[in-house]
This record gives sequence, structure tokens and C-alpha cells, in this order.
Amino acid sequence: MNPTLRTRSALELERAPELPSAALIARTRFVVLGAGGLGCPALLGLAAAGARRVTLVDDDVVDASNLQRQVLYSTADVGMAKTLAARVQLRGLQITPVRARLDARALSELLEDYDPRATVVLECSDDPALKFAANDLGLARGIPVVIAGVQRWRGQVLAVARGSACYRCLYEAPPPPELAPACSAVGIMGSVAGLFGHWMALLAVRLAGALAEGEAALRSLAGRMQAMDLRDMRIQTLHPRPRPGCRACAGAGPDLDAPRARCSSARAGLQQNQ
Ligand SMILES: [Zn+2]
Repeated sequence: MNPTLRTRSALELERAPELPSAALIARTRFVVLGAGGLGCPALLGLAAAGARRVTLVDDDVVDASNLQRQVLYSTADVGMAKTLAARVQLRGLQITPVRARLDARALSELLEDYDPRATVVLECSDDPALKFAANDLGLARGIPVVIAGVQRWRGQVLAVARGSACYRCLYEAPPPPELAPACSAVGIMGSVAGLFGHWMALLAVRLAGALAEGEAALRSLAGRMQAMDLRDMRIQTLHPRPRPGCRACAGAGPDLDAPRARCSSARAGLQQNQ
């Protein structure tokens, strides 16, 4: 049997009935913000689920000090743009590389090109302000967003869609840039980033299916924050209520002039990653 056909058959046989069809996943545009510790496993998870159309945004190059958690790259890639190195590694994906460091305005312009009925955003960057921007823009335009953060042994993940508590309901605003420590000072276990990157991909694929079913299906996946500490392997699930007065839930969109900062203070773990 043709190896490609055999792979496709295996995929169909293994596909769980609760996952959307391969055709639906293949036509969805997944916008991955960040190609680092979360972005690498998220991309692998998307590829394994049958995703095809991916926009990958990152402004950085491969650095030897991050290879333990940025599993797509090797020492041979050091110095290469992450977006291009990822595209070389994941030939099964049609990756549109965007080498840029986005702020709210640039993300807003990028998402203008995509159909909200067939787009899912995965916020994998190390920029707390970009997480808020992705949250706010997703709600304003009806695009589901998956946001995650990891720190040391712990990670958290949240899917955001209209009608459920959002990232800004949980964390009202990003910390001031002066409180953002360097990622190297925070410390991240590579396996924590790997776990949460794949978790993001699974949520994103399920959101892709929910897009075709309507807002109730999206809401059933969103607004539930799940956290795990790999030291004791406990999963916690929080069901926060939408915060009265949340401007993101009201569809106000992001502050297009919000400052950017990499990594955040320890008081807001979900905002940290990569
Ligand atoms: Zn909200």
C-alpha cells in the first residue's frame, strides 16, 4: 500500500468519534503565536491531528539554551529563524511563516485576513500583553483562542470563546513590564511545556470542530481553566464566572497601544510561558 494512504487509513481508524472530521481540521486555519517551548509541541500536536493550514508567528532565532523545551530544533538550527526551522521540520503542515514580534495592533491586522468561521488562535508566546490582545481580539471577532502558560513544574490552559469567562475575566490586565522577569530566571521544565503545548493543540482541534457546530459548542469547551503541577500530577479545573464589566467579554477589542513585555510576575502564572 502506498505509505501515504496507509498513514491516512490509520489516522481515520484511530480517530476518536468526538474529534472533528479530518476534512474540517484540514481546512481550519490555526494561527500559532510563538514557536518556542509551547509552540513547538503545539505544532506537533496539530500536525498529528491532521492540521494543514498554519500561520506561525515568531521573531526569534533558535538558541542553544532553549533546546531542551523547544523540541522541534537541534543544534544544527541554532541561529536560524524559528519560523523557518519549524517549517523545515514539519513538512506535512502548510506553514505560513510570519517573522515578527506582534503587538495588539499588528495582531489585529494579521487576523483581518482570516475567516472567523474557520480560524483558531493558539497563544504560545512569552508576551503577557499579547495574550490579552489575543483574548480581546478573539472575543471581538468571534475567533476562538487557546491561551496557556507554564512556569517551573506548573502549567495552565484556557480556551476562550464568546459567552464564557475569558482570560481578562481571570486576570484583569497584564503586569507592568518592569515586573516581568527573564524566562531564564523563571525556569521551565521541558516536559511541562511539552504537555501543555499538546493540550493546546487538542483544544484547538476540538474548537475547530465546534466552530462548525455553533456558539453553544464553542462555549462547552471554553471558560474552563485547567492547571496541573507535574510534581504531584494533580489536575485542577476552575469554572470562573464571567466578570461583570469585563470589557473583552463586551466585545470592546484590545487596547491597540498596550505595552509589550516578555514573561510576567509570579502572581499570574497563566501569563508565563515559553
Ligand atoms: Zn471577560
